[in-house]
Formats: sequence, structure tokens, C-alpha cells
Amino acid sequence: MHELGVVKHVIKTLKDVAEENRVTRVASVTLQIGEVSGIINEQLTDCWNWYAEKEDLFRGSVLKIETMPAVTFCEGCKREYETVKYGRICPYCGSPETYLVTGNQFEIKEIDAETEDE
Ligand SMILES: [Zn+2]
Repeated sequence: MHELGVVKHVIKTLKDVAEENRVTRVASVTLQIGEVSGIINEQLTDCWNWYAEKEDLFRGSVLKIETMPAVTFCEGCKREYETVKYGRICPYCGSPETYLVTGNQFEIKEIDAETEDE
């Protein structure tokens, strides 16, 4: 359950942030998910909805997901290319000496929250 791990991590992180900022309710959370992260958006949303209901802070909140393109760097010709389109072999020079620059990350981009002062 990769998705549940992500949700748990996000909720734990946001709980800490909420505590520091006197947040009483989170309305929505926007996550950026790399397109080769292996995370299935639908499952992530399901996990979120299930898990958020148990937490006062997140009850009824909406999870928004932005997919971030994956980029691979080639050691052979020092160029970058689209991972999903070309895979592990560089389309410019044919080198297999490549590595993923970005695309398997997940990040909390923003949260829409209400604080005690409002
Ligand atoms: Zn290359």
C-alpha cells in the first residue's frame, strides 16, 4: 500500500504544520506527484478520503493532485529527455548511462487552511 504510506506521511507533516500555525481545519491539499512515482492517483484519493475522515483537521478536505513530468539525464551526451516517452535509453546518442532527474517525487505544493484567527 504505497498510496496509504504517502497519505500517512502527508497527514503527519501537515499536522505538524497545522499545530505551528494554529490551523483548525484543512479545506484542501495540493500534491505534486512525479509521473513515474508509481503512485496511482485514484488510489491515493481513495486513501485520502478514508484517512481524512478519521482526523478532525482533515474531515471533508479535498485532495488535489498535479502530475509532474519525469525527466532523465544522459551521462553520454549530457542532455535531458522525457522519461516516459523514451525510457532508459537516450534518444540522442543511444547511451544506456542515464538517470532519472525528476519524476518519482511527491511534494506538498500548497494547503488551503483555516486558522483560529479567522
Ligand atoms: Zn545521450
